Amino acid sequence: MLGYDDGLHTMLRTPRREIHVAVPLRLDTGDIRLFHGFRVQHNVSRGPGKGGLRYHPAVDIEEVRALAMWMTWKCGVVDLPYGGAKGGVAIDPRDYSKSELERVTRRYTSEIMPMIGPDTDIMAPDMGTDEQTMAWVMDTYSVNRGYTIPAVVTGKPLAVGGSLGRGTATSAGLVHVTASALAEAGADLQDVTVAIQGFGKVGSHAAAIFAARGARVLAVSDQYGGIKSDDGLDVPRLTDYVQATGSVVGFDGGDPITNAQLLTLSVDVLVPAAIEGVLDESTADGVRARWVVEGANGPTTAAGDVLLKKNGVTVVPDVLANAGGVVVSYFEWVQANQTYWWTEQEIADKLEQRMVASYREVAALARREDISLRDAALVIGVKRVADAHLIRGLYP
Ligand code: GLU
Repeated sequence: MLGYDDGLHTMLRTPRREIHVAVPLRLDTGDIRLFHGFRVQHNVSRGPGKGGLRYHPAVDIEEVRALAMWMTWKCGVVDLPYGGAKGGVAIDPRDYSKSELERVTRRYTSEIMPMIGPDTDIMAPDMGTDEQTMAWVMDTYSVNRGYTIPAVVTGKPLAVGGSLGRGTATSAGLVHVTASALAEAGADLQDVTVAIQGFGKVGSHAAAIFAARGARVLAVSDQYGGIKSDDGLDVPRLTDYVQATGSVVGFDGGDPITNAQLLTLSVDVLVPAAIEGVLDESTADGVRARWVVEGANGPTTAAGDVLLKKNGVTVVPDVLANAGGVVVSYFEWVQANQTYWWTEQEIADKLEQRMVASYREVAALARREDISLRDAALVIGVKRVADAHLIRGLYP
């Protein structure tokens, strides 16, 4: 669609820098175990690399590359002065103690130290990591440099320079773009039913915000199973239950369902907010929602996308729908760089403005060119990055 030649296309699709590190861990028992860690800077033409750090057993270089590229287009779509990056360690964090995870995090950080920094590549939480992980990364980096450098990570605790609103930002942004998409069809959050796959950092807060804004959350799930109530789930009570038990399974305010059933429920809005590739050639045809709003990165495969389109499902793509997290990460980095912190209301307002404006820009292009929201979002994101390359020129 953008008509770029092979040279520029190859440049845009190829990661700029990659590092693969061995991360040895001394277990609490005294034994040693070795993990593989990665950091990929897909693009740094518009600013520093930016993106999360994932702890998951399926992490490998291919996945980290894909996630880094998604970050590049995501930062482009919402017009942040960043490139795209991602990191990961192939580890299941549930199998390790807190002190083991601290040692893994510190060793990984020290191994990738030459590549990261507040002006070069800024980390944030992703699947399997949280604000405590970011505090360890920040501390390891700072201690080695000899002074405190809060801007090397975002999504860190408030006590060490985190931002108000960062913890719920991805979900808040997702609900803003959902409201914008509904408004185009003359609908309102109060009119719709929602099903959410994933009850982690994105799905749990999305459920709470959807419910608070008047939508009926009919079903949610996590990796162990799901729960459904036709009257709408009592999300605050469910959240307390999950905090106590670690899963939505067994909640008495609904009936059990499987993850596969959740994807095919008759709801208005389906939010896949767990892992990649859940809407594929075998599942996407069964989706009965009118809108799919992608909370996860890459929940729809290329084949799944074709089926959703054929069936008239409107997909609000990941690079737009879940960009609220990195938008508030950017606000956190700006605040850390100027050492002046904003109020929660300022952050909420700025997030809403940026998400709604980005949605409108994408939707207008989609209408004008008669293309999907995904294609429109990618055209905008990719073009911003390509323009930066073209205007900067090629060195030497
Ligand atoms: N891990 C989140 C994402 O995939 C946030 C990244 C960030 O804030 O840098 O968008």
